[in-house]
Amino acid sequence: MTNSGLPRDAGPDGARVVAMLRTLAELTSDEAGAQRVAWTGVWQRARAFLREQLQGLPVTVRTDAAGNQWARLPGGDGGVVIIGSHLDSVPDGGWLDGAYGVMCAVEVLRCLAARGRLPCAVALVEWADEEGARFGHSLFGSSAVAGTLNVAEVRELADAGGLRLGDVVAEHGVHLDRLDEGRHEIHGARAYLEAHIEQGPVLEREGLPISAVSGTVGVERHRVIFRGQTAHSGATPMDMRRDTFLAAAATALAVRDSAVRHQGVGTVGAARLRPGIVTAVAGETAILVDQRHPDAGALEAMLKEAQRASEEAASAEGCAVSWEPVFRTRPQPFAGELMGVVRDVCAELTGQERVLPSWALHDATPMAGAVPTAMLFTSSTRGISHAREEDTPEEHLRLGVEAFYRTVCRVIAVD
Ligand SMILES: [Zn+2]
Repeated sequence: MTNSGLPRDAGPDGARVVAMLRTLAELTSDEAGAQRVAWTGVWQRARAFLREQLQGLPVTVRTDAAGNQWARLPGGDGGVVIIGSHLDSVPDGGWLDGAYGVMCAVEVLRCLAARGRLPCAVALVEWADEEGARFGHSLFGSSAVAGTLNVAEVRELADAGGLRLGDVVAEHGVHLDRLDEGRHEIHGARAYLEAHIEQGPVLEREGLPISAVSGTVGVERHRVIFRGQTAHSGATPMDMRRDTFLAAAATALAVRDSAVRHQGVGTVGAARLRPGIVTAVAGETAILVDQRHPDAGALEAMLKEAQRASEEAASAEGCAVSWEPVFRTRPQPFAGELMGVVRDVCAELTGQERVLPSWALHDATPMAGAVPTAMLFTSSTRGISHAREEDTPEEHLRLGVEAFYRTVCRVIAVD
């Protein structure tokens, strides 16, 4: 017996988690990678696989108003500890992004269920549409539950085929007018804990299998539109052009330089030229700028520098420029005490105390604004994610399962 009065158990079976992940990958991937895009049949197949894994456990499984799947293991009146991640993927995605955290949570539930009545309830959550791959809006289910989803903004979003988000999610039983009902799911929540692959190269570079996460970085995402004059590529002398693409290209270089200077990241991942033909100077160019930094002040400086550079570049080319926010989120630190639990558990297992910021957003980002939240990372081979090549050494995956289980036990005090 332990000091909580519950029997000790054999602990989690990391090999079982890896086996579940491999089966899920077989069921939901093709030769190009994982195809579990949210609100598709393949995603539904993945969700059904999760329900199969939960069969036989003393849990209640249900779907909330925002389309998130929950499996609740009852316990004493000490509130609820929530564990989970997402099953949806980007098109041609990897086998671990999101799915790893969900399958870790399944294994933790299985171990806890075997220990008898717990001092508090534990709920597994599988968040709907974390990636935003189909409609461009990330963190749908988790931000709905956290109360930060802008319903008016998502209602009109359409996929590449012109189908509207509101209509598509309705086919999956999610009604935008009732999303608010999802908010009561986190009533009485003591903690939200998520395991995830790093999706970057830091742990591998430092020779570490796992680590705690300090929080997620702030993001500034803007559409920048340059307006000049469309003109004939042959007949317009060089000194008479108002070439919007040149102004956009100079801005892209400034975004890169500013990120390097502040040790953040900055990306121009999309550009659209009008008319976009070889025989015309582009009279309009729109680019999408994504800037990220763990420090709010540094992020603001990066944004200001990029804006100033775009104005200088526009004026040098005789163009006008305007900035429209597409998505912004502040740096979201995780709960200090919970992060300390993850850090201590990782130190026990690896001998090293390492805490990384997450440069990718996660369901833990909106959750951290509503519930004390912490995350655990496992390494990513070559730092590659959102790609078929995404991988993690199996022993790191198994160590992550052990670390996640120990963390959950400590948080619900059944250590
Ligand atoms: Zn993910």
